[in-house]
Amino acid sequence: MKRIAILGSTGSIGKSTLDVVARHPTRFRVTALAAAKSDALLLEQCFHHRPAHAVLRDPDAAERLRRGLAQRGVETEVHCGPEALEAVVARDDVDAVMAAIVGAAGLPATLAAARAGKEVLLANKEALVMSGALFMRAVAEGGARLLPIDSEHSALFQSLPRGFTCGREGELERAGVRRLLLTASGGPFRTTPIERLARVTPQQAVAHPNWVMGQKISVDSATMMNKGLEVIEAHWLFGAPLEAIQIVVHPQSVIHSMVEYADGSVIAQLGAPDMRTPIACALAHPERIESGAAPLDFTTLGSLEFERVDGLRFPCVALAREALRVGGTAPAALNAANEIAVESFLEGRLAFTGIAEVIESVLAEAAAEPLVSLEQVYAADVEARALARRFVARRSPMAAGAAG
Ligand code: NAD
Ligand code: MG
Repeated sequence: MKRIAILGSTGSIGKSTLDVVARHPTRFRVTALAAAKSDALLLEQCFHHRPAHAVLRDPDAAERLRRGLAQRGVETEVHCGPEALEAVVARDDVDAVMAAIVGAAGLPATLAAARAGKEVLLANKEALVMSGALFMRAVAEGGARLLPIDSEHSALFQSLPRGFTCGREGELERAGVRRLLLTASGGPFRTTPIERLARVTPQQAVAHPNWVMGQKISVDSATMMNKGLEVIEAHWLFGAPLEAIQIVVHPQSVIHSMVEYADGSVIAQLGAPDMRTPIACALAHPERIESGAAPLDFTTLGSLEFERVDGLRFPCVALAREALRVGGTAPAALNAANEIAVESFLEGRLAFTGIAEVIESVLAEAAAEPLVSLEQVYAADVEARALARRFVARRSPMAAGAAG
């Protein structure tokens, strides 16, 4: 019986994880659930899955959850705040942690899980992007096992030799890998006339053609910053140099990524665009279990297309690659600037095209230092957020015009 803590259980990945877990009641047990403030949904989840612990960021929401659980006779213990989250993931009765909080907010608890030597099922790519080498060191020192949840990274992992260990030195060379080919759908604006991009609305941006996801990652997919973050994620997970990671636009999202070997072979992983597949793959690793995802029907699939990334349309991809090349605190600054820019766009304070402009301005101004401590990562995050807010404020009138 694998005992699981799900961080971000009320989100898109969290709900899919509970769906897979519920299909295998004798294999998995939920010991902890955590979310920001959705106490009503968390109450339902606690009622159905009976975790020993539940954590909410918001104290009022935690109080409401406590009352609701008492009324329904559920004995889940409720905790509140980031320290409680870090303590819960490190508990002895937790074997695996699904890290599915969105954004930088997920870093401390994800790191705590790595340090405690848990099986870390990593959806929260921002945590790895921000802290890169430090995170991978925590995994190694804690004796944790890192399993990717992001569909592309799960596809790469599945296309690598059995036994491949994320974070182990020299794994790619030993496997004879030449390149990692990350597929990208291109999002909802792949063919939108470029001059219209400044006026696209949040509603249009979150309507992804193939995947149903949280708001933030949906906007990241529309700007393709998501693929930029995924390049950085692949670099750290698989130990791949930047030049060995290529993005291939594949609008159908059937091939989830590919590994090219020294002998010219390319191994791809295919499947319906349903996150329950990579989630089940990581939960049961190295076994395979039913996930609820519909099988692929090749007789009705039609053609699969491939294109290169349009750099003019998607400047965020180059910004992310550049942040990885600069290294140190630059990826943390990139991530923080992106979070503020996306939030501002969703709130109607920044034009869609302003997202890349704000990030570029922040990267030009933020001091990139070599990474030696986590304090530095958090400081770079705070500095980049402040800078980004300033750049957004300067652009606001234009954004309002564009949105209107
Ligand atoms: P989401 O917005 O749907 O859910 C986010 C979850 O995090 C919610 O449960 C929310 O309550 C919780 N949360 C937010 N801030 C918190 C805090 N401070 N403390 C505790 N909980 C907090 O997001 P999502 O789409 O599920 O994405 C989660 C992560 O997985 C992201 O990092 C995303 O990039 C990654 N990811 C998602 C998908 C997908 O298909 N949705 C695919 C690949 C990777
Ligand atoms: Mg992905």
